Amino acid sequence: MSEKIYVTYNDVHKLCQEGAKELEKFNPEVIIAIGGGGFIPARILRTFLKRSRGDRSKNIPIQAVGLSLYEDMGTDDYEEKIGKEIIRMQWLDFSALNEHKLDLIGKNILIVDEVDDTRTTLHYAVSELQKDLDALAEKLGRGDEKTTLLVFVLHNKDKPKNAELPADMMSSGRYVAACTTGDEWIAYPWEADNIDEHTRLGLAQKK
Ligand code: 5GP
Repeated sequence: MSEKIYVTYNDVHKLCQEGAKELEKFNPEVIIAIGGGGFIPARILRTFLKRSRGDRSKNIPIQAVGLSLYEDMGTDDYEEKIGKEIIRMQWLDFSALNEHKLDLIGKNILIVDEVDDTRTTLHYAVSELQKDLDALAEKLGRGDEKTTLLVFVLHNKDKPKNAELPADMMSSGRYVAACTTGDEWIAYPWEADNIDEHTRLGLAQKK
């Protein structure tokens, strides 16, 4: 890894605007934001997706999930798990969703994160969500309703990945990365101590 890439809030906004153009044809009906990096992009995307359907359309509901890559917690097996295993900090509560009449079965569901690095997190999110929805649909006798998953990230790092996403997702355009980078560290604005300096560095890099 050489240079750090400074991404400004305006960059994030514009990447979401670009991404929404790719995503709108799939008509996303629910957004699942992977926290914390997916939260701000998800909120911005919602505005552009709504606008593309006309301002009188309903807001797309956003659900939050919390996933974290395993970090050394002092256990014996950490070397096998570190950077590969996901810890589920927060997941969808399907019974609460049902109470609030948010039905995910048969919907077009957009999963949002900020960066696809080793792909471990996105692989986990997509495969677990698919598994849970298949089980729920089966239980409710609605196995014939097709739920479609889409993925949006601001940045995809062009590097060997530790995990895959479904081949049909990749081939049908249901994986949208607004920007492809090398294997560099990306500094996002929401992590900045000094946002003015961060923005200055981001603007200077563009010159
Ligand atoms: P994964 O390796 O599973 O694709 O990414 C795991 C997580 O690591 C990401 O969701 C993100 O929070 C963090 N991450 C990976 N690369 C970067 C990066 O370049 N910048 C920042 N800020 N976070 C990163």
